[in-house]
Amino acid sequence: MFETLSERLSGVFDKLTRQGALTAEDVETALREVRVALLEADVSLPVARAFVKSVSAKATGSAVTKSVTPGQQVVKIVHDELIRTLRGEGDPGALKIDNPPAAMLMVGLQGSGKTTTTAKLAKRLTERQGKRVLMASLDTNRPAAMEQLAILGTQIGVDTLPIIKGENAVQIAKRAKQQATFGGYDVYMLDTAGRLHIDEALMAEVQAVRDVAQPRETLLVVDGLTGQDAVNVATEFDGKVGITGVVLTRMDGDGRGGAALSMRAITGKPIRFVGLGEKMDALETFEAERVAGRILGMGDIVALVEKAQETFEAEQAERMMKRFQKGLFNMNDLKGQLDQMLKMGGMQGVMGMMPGMGKMAKQAEAAGFDDKALRRQIALINSMTKKERANPDLLQASRKKRIAAGAGLEVAEVNRLLKMHRQMADTMKKIGKMGKGGMLKQAMQ
Ligand code: GDP
Repeated sequence: MFETLSERLSGVFDKLTRQGALTAEDVETALREVRVALLEADVSLPVARAFVKSVSAKATGSAVTKSVTPGQQVVKIVHDELIRTLRGEGDPGALKIDNPPAAMLMVGLQGSGKTTTTAKLAKRLTERQGKRVLMASLDTNRPAAMEQLAILGTQIGVDTLPIIKGENAVQIAKRAKQQATFGGYDVYMLDTAGRLHIDEALMAEVQAVRDVAQPRETLLVVDGLTGQDAVNVATEFDGKVGITGVVLTRMDGDGRGGAALSMRAITGKPIRFVGLGEKMDALETFEAERVAGRILGMGDIVALVEKAQETFEAEQAERMMKRFQKGLFNMNDLKGQLDQMLKMGGMQGVMGMMPGMGKMAKQAEAAGFDDKALRRQIALINSMTKKERANPDLLQASRKKRIAAGAGLEVAEVNRLLKMHRQMADTMKKIGKMGKGGMLKQAMQ
């Protein structure tokens, strides 16, 4: 899976990580090569563009962590961006097959691996989740396909709906639903008919079946080797019948892998599983981290940068704690805190991680303390002089005016910032006095 893309990218990053200091040009050249590699892997153009743009913005804005090279840091940024692209926003959660009998519609073109995948998934649900599964083939045009599912069913020990000649797809779906209900099955899987190309008759049939079964999961099976075509097929099926997820098959081949990267960004649908061979066990759940790792093949560097970042943050925290213990908390300290908050998902994110800070987080939320407010506060601190930052007491009217103007804000905002600084300085002093020994909790309650 992804051999070519992986090779190309490691070539790019080998060059990059061998260098010490990087210039903006080095990064730009590398990213241009990344873009070409993505396009060659048949990632769609808008996705490749957005990918490179996002990496470039993050690489430019990131402070270089001690003990890793800028090149290594770029590798980590690319790695994280791969995960984000593969995963998309939001976690799709577990398959929605809880209310028995839950219908699961399997759709896709002929030859995509739909029947094989239906059986693989049935086996998985039976063995790993203890579900009682019934499979039914709706491919009335191809008796051989119906036979194939029955054979696979016997092979893996999963029941299939008996074949009755002359029934149409909707009739079979109704019978499957009945049998699943009366037979006490948890899940019934409908292996719909495929065609070589998308056609109206096929879509109408799948829609009719969908209306009878009302599945909460409709999985599209597509051949991962077909790159952008796979994504087009997904878009079509989603528009016509509505899909809830995708299974990419033949990911065991040395395909170009572009489908995996474009799928989520373009269709908005999660990739649920990948098919990795013809055997009944050759189905894996799709995990963005693992796939990104395979694409990049630079796990060592990613781990190194993560470790260095952790160490760096721990050292920073230690340094801050020492300052608080001495009763020191100036605007630089405040900025450090604000930067950190922004990075960790705003006030809510940070407070949620700190014991006893829940109350403060709620207050902050009520006060409209969102990311935008954080950015405004940071802009104000940025427009202060070094001296002012070190000693906020210097901030009298004329200085406040200059600072507000510098950040394009009102003086009232500067006053709010100063008030917040005073309150936080008081709190920090209290925490400092109490020492590190888990007294943070008391101070905040
Ligand atoms: P359908 O027409 O969509 O139902 O396709 P089939 O399930 O009959 O599969 C077509 C062929 O692809 C069969 O020979 C399968 O064994 C093969 N196949 C399915 N999934 C995979 C996969 O993930 N990897 C490989 N290498 N072959 C697969």
